Order: sequence, then C-alpha cells, then structure tokens
Amino acid sequence: MRVIDHVIAGAAGAGATRHADVFDPNSGAVQARVPLGTAADLDRAVAAAQAAQPGWAATNPQRRARVMFRFKELVEANMDALAHMLSAEHGKVIADSKGDIQRGLEVIEFACGIPHALKGEYTQGAGPGIDVYSMRMPLGIGAGITPFNFPAMIPMWMFGVAIACGNAFLLKPSERDPSVPVRLAELMLEAGAPQGILQVVQGDKEMVDAILDHPAIGAVSFVGSSDIAHYVYQRGVAAGKRVQAMGGAKNHGIVMPDADLDQVVADLSGAAFGSAGERCMALPVVVPVGDKTADALREKLIPAIRSLRVGISTDAEAQYGPVVNAAHKARVENWIQTGVDEGAELVIDGRGFSLQGHEQGFFIGPSLFDRVTPGMKSYQEEIFGPVLQIVRAPDFETALRLPSEHQYGNGVAIFTRNGHAAREFAARVNVGMVGINVPIPVPVAYHSFGGWKRSAFGDVNQHGMEGVRFWTKVKTVTQRWPDGGVGDAANAFVIPTMG
Ligand code: NAD
Repeated sequence: MRVIDHVIAGAAGAGATRHADVFDPNSGAVQARVPLGTAADLDRAVAAAQAAQPGWAATNPQRRARVMFRFKELVEANMDALAHMLSAEHGKVIADSKGDIQRGLEVIEFACGIPHALKGEYTQGAGPGIDVYSMRMPLGIGAGITPFNFPAMIPMWMFGVAIACGNAFLLKPSERDPSVPVRLAELMLEAGAPQGILQVVQGDKEMVDAILDHPAIGAVSFVGSSDIAHYVYQRGVAAGKRVQAMGGAKNHGIVMPDADLDQVVADLSGAAFGSAGERCMALPVVVPVGDKTADALREKLIPAIRSLRVGISTDAEAQYGPVVNAAHKARVENWIQTGVDEGAELVIDGRGFSLQGHEQGFFIGPSLFDRVTPGMKSYQEEIFGPVLQIVRAPDFETALRLPSEHQYGNGVAIFTRNGHAAREFAARVNVGMVGINVPIPVPVAYHSFGGWKRSAFGDVNQHGMEGVRFWTKVKTVTQRWPDGGVGDAANAFVIPTMG
C-alpha cells in the first residue's frame, strides 16, 4: 500500500505505529495510508526548522520573494497533475481543484510583494535628536493545521505569508487528503527554499496537541470545525502562543423581492451544491423575503436542482463529485433525516443516490428543504453537504436578523437590485464577509479572510496585511545619537518624555 509520508528535513517518517487510511471517494476504496505522527516526529521537524530559520530570516526580503515567485511558476507548471491528485483524494471535480489551487496561488502572488509589505515605520525627530522606527520581524517557527476541504488553498494562505515574512513553517494537513500538501512542500524546495523552511508533519489529534504544546512554536494558524477551532485556540493561547482559529459556517443568501431570480438560481446552484457543499463559504441557506418571492424561487430552484449532474471527479460534465468519506456521507444523510423529523418539508431528497459503475463511491444527490425554521437543529448546525434549506422571512428586518443571530458568522450574501437595501444590509449584518449579488464572497488575497462569532477565534484574519501582522512581531527602536556632550544626569531616573 502506498504511504504518504511526512516531509521532515533530513529524515523520513519511518517508525510510525499508527496510520490512517486515505480513500478514493469515487470508488470508496482505500488508496493509500498516512502515518499519524508523534511528538518525537514533531521534535525532529522543529530541530530542522530551528537550524534553517535564522538564515532564512537573514536572507533579504527580495530574495525570499524570488523563491515565492519560482514556487508560483512551479505550481502553475504542475497545475494539471496537482488538480488530479487533489480530486483523487478529496472528490471535488477537476475544475474545482484548479480553483482551490488558483486561490492559494493568489496568496503566493501577494507574498511576492513581501518587501513592500514588510517596510517599517519611521518618525524623524520624535524628540530633540530622537528618531523612532519600527520593524516587522518574523516570529521564528509557525505552524498551520488545515482541514480537508481546501488542501491546496488553505495551506498556501498560511505558509505563503509566513515563509515570505522569514519564518520556518510546519504544516499539519488533514489526514483525509494529505498528498497535495506534500507535493507543495516538495515544490517549495525545488523553488529554492532551504531545507527545513516548509515541512509537513502528518497526524491527527496527537500531532495537533504536540504542536500546541511545543515551546519552540510561536504561532499556530488553524482552519477546521468550530469545536476543534475553539479547543486549539484555548490550548494554544494557554501555552503562550499567538493563535488564529477559523471554524465552521452556515452562510445565508438573502433574496429580496426585486432580485433577478434566474441569476439567483444559477448562483445558488453553484454556491450550495458545488464541491458537494463542502465549502466553508458555501451558501446552504436561502432566505427569500416574502412568500411571493419564496414561491417563485422554489419553483425555479426545483428543476435547476434536479438537473444537476453528479459524477466522478474526473467527469468534465459533472457539477459536483462525491463527499470525502463514508463517515461524512452518513453524517450528511443523518442531518437530512433530522430535518424531516423536525418538520421541515423535504422537497428533493438526495439520499439513496447511486452512480452507475461507482456504487461504493461516497455520492449524495442534491437535497432541497423548504419551510425550515430557526428553532430547528438542522438549521442551527453546519451540514457541510449538498443540501439547500429555504427559510422564509416576511420582511427585510427578519431576513437581516437570521444570519446576524446565528451562532456562525462566516459569510452572507444579499441578492437585490436596490442599492440602499444592499448598503443597509452590509453595514448592519453581524457577519464577517458579505457578498452583494456575489454568492461566495471569498476576499481576494490582498484583502483578508475571516468570519465572526463561532466562525473564528482570535482576532487577526488570514492573508493580506492581516496575515503579515499575524506572522510577524513589531520591534520599535527609539534612537538618539548625542553629539558628544554629557547627558542630563539629573533626569536619568525620570520617565523620558519627548518635550
Ligand atoms: P476538522 O475540524 O475535522 O479538522 C481540521 C483539522 O483538525 C485537521 O487537520 C484534523 O486532523 C484536526 N483535528 C481533527 N480532530 C481533532 C481533534 N479532536 N483535536 C485536534 N485536532 C483535530 O475539519 P474538517 O472536517 O477537516 O474540515 C471541515 C470544517 O472546516 C468545516 O467545519 C468547515 O466549515 C471548516 N472550514 C472553515 C474554514 C474557514 O475559513 N472558516 C475554511 C475551510 C473549512
């Protein structure tokens, strides 16, 4: 059986006693095994990172940027192979895998401009003969713990910025689809990063705990489900680390009576069902304002959803592929049953879907619920599958309250032709990322990504200048160059002022 190993400088990961199976979601078969690393594996990676990081930090930022640029070119040259590798473990269709890689590369492009982003601040003459300057210094060693659903983009969000800032980076990818992160680390070496600057440590909770407790790791970035994000945040902070921990989501799309419903249906088909709903910025809840809007939307949604093509991830005609594994398939189907038990109207039932020739694959047909209400558990929790829920709202204020009061606050969208309503909504909604006629408002790389409420713990977002702030610390120097005269000894014990 193929083994997807760690990438630890100078040493392979031989000796692991525990492994996880990596499935082919299209066939349901086990295709590889990944070692579940230990604190000893982490120690070896940390030692290599400690050896490499000071030299990397001392490399001028333009040279570091050139490595990022070569990495970008190598990833582009390997795009097809990487996309197939990604789809083969995740199950998303090839076009989606290319999108996953491309959105990560945009952060690498941002990182190519790191010399500009790292320029410090300077005040000439802050006091008599006194100048003040501040500089952004790398933290040393950073770590990233990533989810299964974006195995290329999310690692690049983190290591793209962290490495460009002069840190060494340890990546602990999801044990469900670890091949692409390994390949990215290999390409980073090929691009000219020194050994030890980007390493991959495979594992599960045991490895995560070892990272959170390791005294040499200064900062941890996490993306995954909310309970684990909260746990990682608390344990990491208790160990004295800087932590950002992004969690789950339940994004709402508000449909105003004046919206272009054909456009909304096209947008929802992609945003609710694309990647089998396994996106933290998916749009699994739609909130039509007024029954007339709801009835008209429902009528247009039904044929659109019925016509969605579910296929294997290499089927170029398929809109989405299988979910990641059997346990997740069972979980999504359980949520559909919960919705039925709670009294929501199941308009289209995606359970029992079977793809000819791939009967053991982890496929789920698309589902549509109507008359979902805020008291239902299936509304309150994240389903993370190809399931769209209609929650009817009588008016704008109710529609605004729904996402604002939900436990998650990652993304939200409003569909309208009314600029005033859109502006009002964007200003008042209690959610971190807002789309106006944009169903999946993932910010571009030079802005930053982060939700609110239980969608993110910690207070600094991913990538953009927020990412630079997260992966650096500020040192401020106050300097005076006396002209050779004797200092003011009488005031030596008084707090200095600039007067
Ligand atoms: P997950 O929480 O199961 O796993 C995330 C990471 O945590 C993995 O590396 C995993 O190995 C590790 N982990 C798992 N169990 C752990 C435990 N008990 N203790 C410590 N670490 C543990 O998430 P997932 O299923 O891989 O990803 C899907 C989730 O991620 C969804 O909830 C989705 O909304 C969320 N997500 C959020 C964002 C965001 O930016 N807010 C982006 C993508 C995905």
